[in-house]
Amino acid sequence: MALTSTDVRTVALPSGEAVPALGQGTWGMGEDRRARANEIAALRLGLDLGMTLIDTAEMYGGGGAEQVVGEAIAGRRDEVFLVSKVLPQNATRRGTIAACEQSLKRLNTDRMELYLLHWRQSVPLEETLEGFTALMRAGKIRRWGVSNFDVDDMEELLALAGGDGVATNQVMYNLKRRGIEYALLPWSRKRHIPIMAYSPLDQGGSLLRSQELRLVADRHGATPAQMALAWTIRQEGVFAIPKAGREAHVRENQAALNLKLSAQDLAELDRAFPPPAKKKPLEST
Ligand code: NAP
Repeated sequence: MALTSTDVRTVALPSGEAVPALGQGTWGMGEDRRARANEIAALRLGLDLGMTLIDTAEMYGGGGAEQVVGEAIAGRRDEVFLVSKVLPQNATRRGTIAACEQSLKRLNTDRMELYLLHWRQSVPLEETLEGFTALMRAGKIRRWGVSNFDVDDMEELLALAGGDGVATNQVMYNLKRRGIEYALLPWSRKRHIPIMAYSPLDQGGSLLRSQELRLVADRHGATPAQMALAWTIRQEGVFAIPKAGREAHVRENQAALNLKLSAQDLAELDRAFPPPAKKKPLEST
């Protein structure tokens, strides 16, 4: 399949800002020094190909992933839409500010485009929101969002003063994990809050070995991974952030942007991976 760096599909944030629909994940990076050069090269290639949204977290590699990202974006900071996350146990007002400052140091930058609460725990959301607000005022983050929030969490958040400033909700979503289609996805779409799909390749698991997925992909001369990504971002308001530690995978993933799914493709994939018939608990890693 032909590769072009001009195929940049975007998703609109609630502010109206357009951000590339296909980004790059980093979970698992920064854990093994021998992999570091490949990881940096992979992220840089992704930037070259327009996958300029990079998702990381203070959790990944105990800060190691943020350091890899810091090296990868050195000299190219302005091209990048940088996303990182605060751990829930750090998400008090002061803890959020301190965690962000540590992340910025590891990322070797003075700001991030988006800062997320990684998942919800016992710290009241108001406190985390206060931390986010202080960070925005200081110019350290441009906006904030959440991760692993289901509809009830989102409703609680939106009821808080300033809660409607949420820019995205990052959740698990792929062909095998379609639970959000029942409630969270339509709820979010109605409110123009984009969903950022994590583990869109099923973490390199059994989805990519599915015969049904392969049949649909073959029809397009594509790989199962490309079809899985094209399926995830087929709809408005959904990002996907596949992680690829090798350049070959980055090239392959970027080319998913060239795929157009037909009604027949979608019907066959629905038969193999049925959409949810009822509300299910939100899935997570
Ligand atoms: P994923 O992106 O679904 O899968 C990553 C795995 O797929 C890696 O082993 C990778 O291998 C492999 N891969 C990549 N491209 C491939 C291709 N074209 N063909 C075959 N295999 C391919 O899983 P993920 O890392 O869980 O999710 C993506 C990102 O979402 C994470 O990295 C992280 O940034 C974020 N995330 C967030 C949360 C949260 O709670 N908010 C949870 C999980 C993940 P190589 O690395 O060897 O290329």
